[in-house]
Parts: sequence; structure tokens; C-alpha cells
Amino acid sequence: MSLAEERQLLAGWGRAGKSAARLVSPSCTQEAEKVLAALGNEGGRPAIARGLGRSYGDAAQCGGGTVIDCRGLTAPFEISPSGLCRAGGGLSIDSLLERAVPAGWFVPVTPGTRQVTVGGAIASDVHGKNHHVDGAFAAHLRRLELVAPTGRILCGPEDPAFAASCGGMGLTGVITEATFQLIPIESSRIKVETERAGDLDACMALLAERAEEHRYSVAWVDGLAGGRKLGRSVVTRGDHARPAELPAGAAKDPLAYRPRQRFRAPLAPPLSPLSPATIALMNEVWYRKAPRTSKTSFESIASFFHPLDAVGDWNLLYGTRGFIQYQYVVPFGAEEVVRDSLERLGRAGHPPYLVVLKTFGPPGQGHLSFPREGWTLALDLPLGRAGLAEVLDGLDELVAEAGGRVYLTKDSRLRPELLEQMYPRLPAWREEARRLDPDGIMSSDLDRRLGLRRSPEKKALGK
Ligand SMILES: Cc1cc2nc3c(=O)[nH]c(=O)nc-3n(C[C@H](O)[C@H](O)[C@H](O)COP(=O)(O)OP(=O)(O)OC[C@H]3O[C@@H](n4cnc5c(N)ncnc54)[C@H](O)[C@@H]3O)c2cc1C
Repeated sequence: MSLAEERQLLAGWGRAGKSAARLVSPSCTQEAEKVLAALGNEGGRPAIARGLGRSYGDAAQCGGGTVIDCRGLTAPFEISPSGLCRAGGGLSIDSLLERAVPAGWFVPVTPGTRQVTVGGAIASDVHGKNHHVDGAFAAHLRRLELVAPTGRILCGPEDPAFAASCGGMGLTGVITEATFQLIPIESSRIKVETERAGDLDACMALLAERAEEHRYSVAWVDGLAGGRKLGRSVVTRGDHARPAELPAGAAKDPLAYRPRQRFRAPLAPPLSPLSPATIALMNEVWYRKAPRTSKTSFESIASFFHPLDAVGDWNLLYGTRGFIQYQYVVPFGAEEVVRDSLERLGRAGHPPYLVVLKTFGPPGQGHLSFPREGWTLALDLPLGRAGLAEVLDGLDELVAEAGGRVYLTKDSRLRPELLEQMYPRLPAWREEARRLDPDGIMSSDLDRRLGLRRSPEKKALGK
């Protein structure tokens, strides 16, 4: 197979740090094998897989190299009577849910958007609002098919290639197929308990309190509230509703699933309509709308899990400069890091526009998997104002000292020196990545920026 020279400028969801690469689009496993064989013949020009481009930073880019667009790898797609799902690596969770929900099945883990591929979910080992109960995506995987530069392999949780590929950021090869267990549901509604928390302590207490009693929990935090109101938030906890619990209208067709996109941002305005003043106003309304004490309601899958998907291309609203999402996890006991993060950003004039706080349970098998037990904070920050890099560099240090780490799929700016401290299983991952790809064909802008594949000695020699 020869590879055409179609070049495209690609970016992550945050739209910062674009780079141009040749794009190839295999439509089946055999074509993916031919692509990797042709890349090997070209003398190891670097390549990386890309799904729906929902990683915020540069994980699915390969400037000057090849990006393997996996969206065509949608076959197979089948669900067994016991809920075992076999899906192509390019199938989106959106398409999967369209078929699975009316049949009484739900994905074991969904990120905050359904516009991600199965391959992307595995390569980032994504987490949802249920990590404290169910772990991350890879915990539910039975098998995956990987086309590595050394050839096609099938692997399961007992194989070293599995631990290297789950959370491996696409750097072990192309995931062409996966088999994972879905969870049974009796309705497409979520029974949600919502309540306000006046400050960060109250928010953390609500999230930690009887955590196992609810499958899903999350806090939206007002990133512009300071002083006594720092960390004021709206905490939601949810579970899949049983038909007998549903209001009359919804009980008629309990598995109905009709997610809708209500608007689409037409293009990126040169000046973003979002500003601290508009966000502060929206946050005030959102906080006041939430009940003071716990109130139960029923929400659709789309509004509970994927509220941002209601506005197509909402990332354009951040304007031409784009934004970053900074997400980290710190162990329980390091609550002060969370408080410090909000205080430092506020003081420096970089209030986060969207803040989400969740708890994680124990880590999974993936060597580079992000989740570990503790608090995870995600902050959306607009780019373009001076001083942000310095504040985030300082926060990285706090996070690393506390034994935490930043999420690679959201990253576009971490300094490489902190990588090994944050990801102590990096040497084991490197060893397996080298075995699967001895010529170092798989590489991305993220890999090159952080030196993920390179050993520290090579870095020192500048190789
Ligand atoms: C609104 C929003 C909400 C989000 N919420 C969450 C959340 O709650 N939890 C969470 O964990 N993440 C979350 N994310 C991040 C997102 O889930 C991950 O970045 C996911 O990996 C994106 O999947 P993708 O198909 O778009 O992959 P891409 O962004 O295209 O690629 C991401 C990584 O996966 C690799 N990859 C993609 N396809 C393959 C393949 N077939 N084989 C091998 N490697 C592959 C790429 O090389 C890259 O390293 C969110 C993102 C957005 C935009």
C-alpha cells in the first residue's frame, strides 16, 4: 500500500498548538496493517492514531508525520445476550448508545461527551462520574485487537501489551477492535439528587459522604467565587432509574433514547463572547437555581452525562486563541491542593470558566492510566492572557509533591521533568512500548513534547 500525501492542519479540542500531518484513513483492520507496514518501509516516519479529536491537547497530532484517522474502523458491532459488546476501534460511543440503550444496555464508563471513539476511550483509559464504584474504561475490557508496528495481536488483561495500551495514548499501535462488558439498565432515565454546597469543605463532604450509595457523583464548582464562597458548588448524585420510579410520561417508553444537539457554534469569533463577567453571571444563576437541600429529579442520559454535547462545536466559543483544560488527581488527604489551585488562579486573574470536582477509586491496570484514588479537579481556562503558564507550572509542582498527576489526554503544556514522578510506572510502559514498536514509529506531538517514549539517558544525549 502506498500512502497518499493529503496534509491537514490538526488540533485538539482546545484548538491551541495546531500541527500539519499527512492523513490516512483505513476502513478495516487489514488496511490498518497495510498502513503500518508501509510506514515501516518508509524508514520509520512517525505516526499516531486519531479518533474524534476530543482530547484537549496534542495527543492525537503528529506534526510532519502521519495521522491515522480511525473513524472508518466502525466494524464489527455486536452485543451478545449477556451484554458483551464487540466494537470497532473507530465506533463512537454516540453510535453505540443509539443501539445499546433501547436494547437495555449502557456503556460501563462514559466521559463527559459521547463523541469519542472506542479506541480513543481505551487509549486514554477514560473515566466517568462512576470511577469510585466502577473504575475506568479498561476495567471492563475483556480483549482488544491491536495493530502494532510489529504486527496484529489480540490481547487480554493478562497480557503486557494490554497494560501498555490501556491509557497508552496510542503509542503502542492502532486499536482496531475491542470487547467489553456493558451494564444492564431498565430505563434510559437517571434518578438524580441535586444539592448546593456553600463552600469547598461542604462540597467535599457531600462527595465523600456515603459515596458508594450512588453509582454516579460529581460537583460543578463556581470557579469565580472567592473568599468565604470559594468552592461553592452544585453536587449531583445519580443512579439508573427503575421503570416503577419514573414519572407517568417517561414510564410509557422507559428505554426511549433521543439525544439532541440544540445549537451549533457557527465559527470561532476573533473575540470570545465568554469573559469573567459573563461567566460570573451564568454561575450565579446556575448556583441559585440549584436546591438548598437535596431534591430528586429524573434526567435523560444526554442531559446527565453529556450536557455539553447539546451545543455542537462549543469549543469555538473560546475564540481563535482557544483554551486548555487542566485536570489533575491528588490523593485523599491532599485537599489543600484543590483549595490552593482555586485560590492561586483567582489571585493571578485567571479564574477557570468551568470547574468539575470528582472522586476516584483505586487505579486500574494501565501503566499510564490517569486515575488513582483521590480528588480529581478539571479546570477550563481561556488562553491569551499573560501569566497562566507560570501559575500552572506552580500547580504542577504542588500536584507532583502531593503524589498526584495531570491527565495526559487533556495536556498541552506539562514540563517533561515532572513526568516520571507523576507516572511512576513509566519505565515498565516504555519497555513494553519498545517491544511492540522497536523502531519508534508510533509517536505524537504529546510524545515528543514530553519525551514519553525516550529514556532519560537518551534525553540527556538529545537523541
Ligand atoms: C466535552 C469533553 C468532555 C470530556 N470528559 C471526559 C471525562 O469525563 N473523562 C475522561 O476520561 N475524558 C474526558 N474527555 C476526554 C476524552 O474522553 C478523551 O480525550 C478521549 O480519548 C477522546 O477520544 P477520541 O476518540 O476523540 O480520541 P482522540 O482525541 O482522537 O485521541 C485521543 C488519544 O487516543 C488515541 N487513539 C484514538 N483512537 C485510537 C485508536 N483507534 N487506537 C489507538 N489509539 C487511539 C490517540 O492517539 C490519542 O492519544 C472529555 C473530552 C471532551 C471534549
